[in-house]
Amino acid sequence: MTTTSSRIRGSLYGVAVVDALGGPVEFCQRGSFPPVTDFRYNSNFGLSAGTWTDDTSMTLCLAQSLVDTNGEFNVLDQVKKYVKWWDEGYMSATGTCFDIGNTTRQALATWKRCIKDGESSEKEVSHCQKIINKSLGRAIFCGNGSLMRTAPIPLIYHNSPSLAQHYALLASTPTHPHPTCLSACQLYTHLITHILSLQHPNPNSDKSTLWTTLQNFPSTKPDTDNPSTHPSLLSALFTPHPTLTTFQQKPSTEIKSSGYVIYTLEAALWAFFTTETFKEGALKVVNLGNDADTVGAVYGGLAGAWYGIDNIPEEWLDGLQAKNIVDDVVEGVVALVEKGVYEGPKTYQFQAYLTYPYRFPKIHLIPAWIRPITPRSSIPLSHHVIHPSLLPANPPKTPDFPLPLPSHPHALHKSRSKLPIKTTNTSKPIPHSPIPIPSKHLHNFLFGTRYFHSGGD
Ligand SMILES: [Mg+2]
Repeated sequence: MTTTSSRIRGSLYGVAVVDALGGPVEFCQRGSFPPVTDFRYNSNFGLSAGTWTDDTSMTLCLAQSLVDTNGEFNVLDQVKKYVKWWDEGYMSATGTCFDIGNTTRQALATWKRCIKDGESSEKEVSHCQKIINKSLGRAIFCGNGSLMRTAPIPLIYHNSPSLAQHYALLASTPTHPHPTCLSACQLYTHLITHILSLQHPNPNSDKSTLWTTLQNFPSTKPDTDNPSTHPSLLSALFTPHPTLTTFQQKPSTEIKSSGYVIYTLEAALWAFFTTETFKEGALKVVNLGNDADTVGAVYGGLAGAWYGIDNIPEEWLDGLQAKNIVDDVVEGVVALVEKGVYEGPKTYQFQAYLTYPYRFPKIHLIPAWIRPITPRSSIPLSHHVIHPSLLPANPPKTPDFPLPLPSHPHALHKSRSKLPIKTTNTSKPIPHSPIPIPSKHLHNFLFGTRYFHSGGD
């Protein structure tokens, strides 16, 4: 029987192994290279065989952040680790950041300007996120940079699927805030949390069940009222295939395996659903070429959870470069899950019970077991306000699944245009006014114009 810890180890090592397999043929057109059968030298960056790349580094950064915060989700800590990877080679197999995606680089550059060396206030973090929503919340920035690092979220929060969905969304926003990226991360999270909930030892007989789970995910359903919205992008890939069999019959010529997040997800799923072993799927997905390392990492996170660590070829696990870095993070994640930090609603009710008396003194008189409290409401308040623009105006009282997606980032532009701040001419000095600037607009007054006039369109 494949245990939960085996699935967790399999998923994280799976990301690293298939990332390292695909790295040497990244950027290569399909069929233009000798088929990958094992680790090989990566001539793109001059790396030894078995060297994992940015996909694994960012996955390890996210996982280590969750471990360091004892399972409490802290976006700022995650961003700091990404920046540390970029600047200092933290969680890199070579000690340096030798490759970084364009969208990720732009986002981290913005974060570096916003955050300070010490602690940044929630308002500053929220402000920075709004800048990123505006600059990177467009369809042209729907790369796979957040999807490729998502695996730790469902692995750690699999006991609370709605919480995992919520965090999958928040984990994407610092670099990839577009709703299409958020939906892809949520679907990926949905599949892995479902896998970790499986009780049956014979996985191959259940792949059709997993396909049904995918089909029932809201974002994969067509939105006939708004055909251009992001749910339709996912549904366009999956609704033509009501059964797993028809998806399996999709020819490889129709699988693009590019850096566009939807095509990356499709390639990883196609390799997973059309093969029967971890190794077979891994070789199939990296030999698609193009963004081979990232489609490989996404495949590895999913397939590793499905098959478990014992079904990943030993020579690949042993052949990983800087394996000690991966080992430390993986064992930290396994220990965190085994501690049972997030065991489900009971734990959350207790946490909420302790949290609420300070804000609503009367509530503590009501036993938690009488008043149902959702896992969402138990998230520390400090985490709620990190991204206020991403949270629904009226949080549901009962767990809904998945949580509503935020409004399109362009909505932020509209609200900003109503502010009584002149943003069209920053070259003129702003005259001193005896009228005090409203505090809620002070930050925009000081920082908003600087960024909104330095960007492109
Ligand atoms: Mg890479």
